[in-house]
Amino acid sequence: MKSPIWHPFTQHATAPEPAWVDRAEGACLFTKDGRRIVDAIASWWVVTHGHCHPHIVAAIRAQAERLDQVIFAGHTHEPAERLAEKLVEMTGLDYVFFSDSGSTSVEVAIKMAFGYWHNRGEPRRHLLALEHGYHGDTIGAMSVGARGVFNEPYEPLLFEVGRIPFPEAGNEQKTLDLLEVQCRLQSPAAFIAEPLVLGAGGMLMYGADTLREMKRVCERHGVLFIADEVMTGWGRTGTVFACEQAGIVPDIGCYAKGLTGGSMPLAVTLCKAEIFDAHWSSDRRKTFFHSSSYTANPIACAAAVANLEIWDREPVLERIATIGAHHDRRLKDLADRRGFTHARRTGTIAAIDLDVPDSGYLSDAGPKLYAHFQERKVLLRPLGNTIYLMPPYCIAPADLDAVYEAIASAPDSLRR
Ligand code: PLP
Repeated sequence: MKSPIWHPFTQHATAPEPAWVDRAEGACLFTKDGRRIVDAIASWWVVTHGHCHPHIVAAIRAQAERLDQVIFAGHTHEPAERLAEKLVEMTGLDYVFFSDSGSTSVEVAIKMAFGYWHNRGEPRRHLLALEHGYHGDTIGAMSVGARGVFNEPYEPLLFEVGRIPFPEAGNEQKTLDLLEVQCRLQSPAAFIAEPLVLGAGGMLMYGADTLREMKRVCERHGVLFIADEVMTGWGRTGTVFACEQAGIVPDIGCYAKGLTGGSMPLAVTLCKAEIFDAHWSSDRRKTFFHSSSYTANPIACAAAVANLEIWDREPVLERIATIGAHHDRRLKDLADRRGFTHARRTGTIAAIDLDVPDSGYLSDAGPKLYAHFQERKVLLRPLGNTIYLMPPYCIAPADLDAVYEAIASAPDSLRR
């Protein structure tokens, strides 16, 4: 029988039948028809320590038997309190607001920034964002993200933001100068950026020095700096958070994906005390008016606490460094081959472009590459002609090699 399910980011007219996944373990998915597929993109960048990590599974089971869900207005619970305390310690930020996805964590960040200025009696009307950014698919998150094929039909719903050019290698000063000018002329409420790596925008990478300078420019002009660490957080760039590499603490930070190790949907937006304080008032109109039904769901929070315990107990950063070194060896080999260009890496994120005449998200190469990788039992989901890897940190070297072999054979397979 035909399934009634409408899948995300899927053109059903042309997409192959979805792989029916029965179970998952470590870095692998096991399908109903008996295939073992290496999950080289950590199931949309969420799985950090591996699928079904026993410590997280046990925490979920125990929490589900004790407290499954409770309204979070006027109530609190142990997993949320423990998680918030630890997040504050890790990020250097002061307050934690819970939500359920990366997109909602960005919506919350935007609202916090506008609420801050509004409640201070100095309302601001603009936002700045980095060109090629992707921040999610809700209206605010789409508005601050790059305009293009992802959001063209929804254009009338989106608000305008000032765009700061991506800091291309060698042209970083141009980015900083334009940020300076826009901060001075527009007095924006905030500037939002993905630190070090722009994910869905094409795995575009820039340096920690530029990130630090962008934060400094914002500071000089009293503009809030929002770091969207939804993808870069939880070790992806080589440190727990990308901002660490620049030695900066954002005014507002968005975290999701690997927050629960990839097991449950949960997100947080953390902010500095002054943003919370601007909402602290005997005037109830200054309340932060945001919620969703499952805010700080106890089972998801327990999964996140267990995730952080794994960070404390297991050599996660060493695993990340090992994957980075493996990427370097194999990327070098690919870069020497015909058909590839622009090899790059930050932490566990490796990317390379296939040299094609029609580059970009809608490149013809995209679906062909996807099919090629499926045939080789590898889950890679190229962004057009950009092939990238973002594996779970437990991936076995032999599996990572198999992924690289599949990539190496892609140009020939596409020519056939
Ligand atoms: N922000 C960034 C940087 C992302 O990469 C993503 C998703 O890929 C999001 C926000 C949206 O997260 P979600 O898909 O959980 O809504």
